[in-house]
Amino acid sequence: MTPPVPPTGQAFAATDNNDHLVQSVNPDHPANLIPSLCAKFWKLGWVTGTGGGASIREDDLVYLAPSGVQKELMKPSDIYVLSMAAQAKSLDRRTRVYLRSPAQYKPSQCTPLFMAAFTKRGAGCCIHTHSHWAVLVTLILETQGAGNDREFQINNIEQIKGFGRGFEKSGNLGYHDTLRIPVIENTAHEEDLTEFLEEAMDKYPDTYAVLVRRHGVYVWGENVHKAKTQCESLDYLFQLAVEMKRLGLPWITEIEPVKPTRA
Ligand SMILES: [Zn+2]
Repeated sequence: MTPPVPPTGQAFAATDNNDHLVQSVNPDHPANLIPSLCAKFWKLGWVTGTGGGASIREDDLVYLAPSGVQKELMKPSDIYVLSMAAQAKSLDRRTRVYLRSPAQYKPSQCTPLFMAAFTKRGAGCCIHTHSHWAVLVTLILETQGAGNDREFQINNIEQIKGFGRGFEKSGNLGYHDTLRIPVIENTAHEEDLTEFLEEAMDKYPDTYAVLVRRHGVYVWGENVHKAKTQCESLDYLFQLAVEMKRLGLPWITEIEPVKPTRA
């Protein structure tokens, strides 16, 4: 277990595991919210067999589910807590500085990917699912051949309005806008996806999600509400896209906007 490191300007005994960071009666406290969100995601088939997960950032503190835990049975005491500031000072990106670690677990391999959403996009929450629909969309794209398999696009569907316009932009996408989600290739170890996820964020500065081929999707938002809404909207669109493909319907269409006739 990584020994706890005191946050800047604070000191505590070496034996203190900072358990208070995950103890709260508030249901909206991240240590309570992550288990309740993961239980919901498990029911949707998004985090089956311990895969996938969610992380929440509140100011400097990042709350994370451990590796290999049954997502529907997770407890607040299972949650890791990491300091962004202490982490930024660490020279080795792969060595993470936890303020609080549950003794019986290992940190999640998703941690550096969640951190990318927090550091590069200022996100407040990041969700990772192994949704069937996300995986199927990447498989459908794969059949389109190299060069046409790195981006999912869809337009003229009402649910697109569930997405923000982009990083530091106000408002949401409109019905006629095209939603574009980059696709990165899967790697043998989840942690090794980080550099490719960051590359995709640089290439698509306004995206709130990155698909991982034959694996799933990472979705983030300014806060839990936005990350969850975008993740649900995206899963709806992925399912729709798979069914559309089955029916031979195109994902991109030209539709003339209907103008209101009444003043
Ligand atoms: Zn995964």
